[in-house]
Amino acid sequence: MSVPVAEAVRTGPVITGLSTRLITVPLRRSWGVEAPENHVIVTEIRTDDGGAGHGFSWTPTIGPQAVKALLDYDIAPFVTGLPANPELVWDPLWKRLHEAGGGGLTTIAMAGVDLALWDLQARRAGTSVTGLLGQRQESAEVYGSGVNLHYTLDELVEQVRRWVAAGHRAVKIKVGKPDIREDAERVAAVRSVLGPDRKLMIDANQRWDLPTTLRALDILAGYGLEWLEEPLRADDLWAYRRLRKHSLVPIALGENLHTIYRFRDFIQAEAVDIIQPNIIRVGGITPFRRIVELARTNSIRVMPHLLPELSGQLALTLAEPTLVEDVEDASFEQLGILAAPSPVRFSNSRVTLVDQPGLGLRFRESPEAMGADTMNAITMNLGTNSDMKNRNFQ
Ligand SMILES: [Mg+2]
Repeated sequence: MSVPVAEAVRTGPVITGLSTRLITVPLRRSWGVEAPENHVIVTEIRTDDGGAGHGFSWTPTIGPQAVKALLDYDIAPFVTGLPANPELVWDPLWKRLHEAGGGGLTTIAMAGVDLALWDLQARRAGTSVTGLLGQRQESAEVYGSGVNLHYTLDELVEQVRRWVAAGHRAVKIKVGKPDIREDAERVAAVRSVLGPDRKLMIDANQRWDLPTTLRALDILAGYGLEWLEEPLRADDLWAYRRLRKHSLVPIALGENLHTIYRFRDFIQAEAVDIIQPNIIRVGGITPFRRIVELARTNSIRVMPHLLPELSGQLALTLAEPTLVEDVEDASFEQLGILAAPSPVRFSNSRVTLVDQPGLGLRFRESPEAMGADTMNAITMNLGTNSDMKNRNFQ
């Protein structure tokens, strides 16, 4: 195999192998009838000096077996022999995978390699990934987030009360009921629990078209919204451009954009106020940092999507303060799939990091290896509401 990296830079260890395993875990609080579980594809990279790096890919619903197959059959042979350096692997690997798609399953799979290489590099340097990248923030604010469109009004209000009791200053709920008046009733109830000073964000998960969104804003904007998230199909750049011209509420999106080029397109078109890259879906820490710099140079705020134990670590490296999304009871630690306590700690609505080499996220050997107590504690709550027909719940 030709190695697309100059010999002159090959001074460190070389990758000798990549192995993967799939963990599927039921959610403690279902995200709806079509998203009852999450999938983690655990990765391990080995090097010629006896080192090992540990990372992961992730997908809530679509493609865990496809991601694992890309890693096993296409990515592992390609990265074997490359320098164990995430910055040197990412671009040639992306070029290699491109005929299967510039983003999506390919970048989700690439994240498993990228995270393992950052873990390896940080541990070789005797520090955390956050420390290696440069920790700029002592802590970051966490917001309470719920995949709760299928909750009854009472269940929703109870969830918001739990967030307030936990000290959250910002929360996010789902909207997109068949009748906008029901959304208005739910947003009004949540705002009354929050009071006037806490931040409230709403997320429509691509359920609306442009006329529906404009009508929804007419009805909902008066509730003091921090942002409106993904009201339209994520691909529809020109509809977002028209929407943002008319919206007084900041528009947030990005969890379904997979490359820096798509973020560039939305930013240059002035179609977005806040971008929300998912570190796994964009291909790992390497492209995430590039996207963050793109946003900074355009005065666009960055709010990382989900994965609080990963996003929390990167949030501490950002020059601008951000909000870390914490979906209730859905962290890896709360799902019971970590082999050791997470180095990312959540307390008083702030995230902090316990200094620990690498990423500090190691997963249990297999779901079967989970203790009976853990498995018994994981309860499936599928929900039955008939309005959960769309496929985008996260
Ligand atoms: Mg969202």
